[in-house]
Amino acid sequence: MTRVQVERFGRDDALMKPHILVVEDEDDIVTLLRYTLEREGFRVSAATNGEEALLLCREQMPDLVLLDWMLPLLSGSDVCRQLRRVDDTAEIPVIMLTARGEETDRVRGLNAGADDYITKPFSLVEVVARIRAVLRRTRPGSQASQLTFADLAMDLANHRVTRDGRNIHLGPTEFRLLRHFLEYPRRVFSRTQLLDRVWGRDVYVEARTVDVHIRRLRKALNGDGEKDLIRTVRSAGYALDMPMET
Ligand code: CA
Repeated sequence: MTRVQVERFGRDDALMKPHILVVEDEDDIVTLLRYTLEREGFRVSAATNGEEALLLCREQMPDLVLLDWMLPLLSGSDVCRQLRRVDDTAEIPVIMLTARGEETDRVRGLNAGADDYITKPFSLVEVVARIRAVLRRTRPGSQASQLTFADLAMDLANHRVTRDGRNIHLGPTEFRLLRHFLEYPRRVFSRTQLLDRVWGRDVYVEARTVDVHIRRLRKALNGDGEKDLIRTVRSAGYALDMPMET
């Protein structure tokens, strides 16, 4: 990727939109949900069975999964249980879609670890409202105008970053990288996850590009004698974290 492409891509804020993974085997419903959610300002990807859903969750780390109960291969509740079992995906909010309105199914869905459930046939207005409500609850950072961690502060409206009151100038990629870390403090992200979430899936960038931008971010954040807030986790990736006291 050339410098020019990086800069152009850096101004694209599509990646800042909350990313919803729709898991549903009925094409018409996927099309309808995709159209509605994109119009409402979400980024949408789709899986048509449970196995694909698990794979995409690990690869893309969506902000929320809209999960149909009745799926081929693995049921929605199996998918939900498996997401909850793995550290990386345990925190991804899940809204279950179910055609069956009985109380027992609702209880089973919530027992499997779903955050909310919607009964089919659903109204699109309701789906959007529920998604927003769950995101507000589970990912307050995505709705905030300011993100903070330790002595770091990011003002999203003014695109301004400060550390201990000192202004920090960041390039567009470093800004998005830091924003991502601030939304998920202390969580470790692999290079591949960072590429998917900060650069986007459709962009071809080598994994070591992540290291280059992490280095720039570190350099910008860490002034004289300040603690390094970016933790390198050997063979795992990077996290925004407080350094260990030595
Ligand atoms: Ca279905």
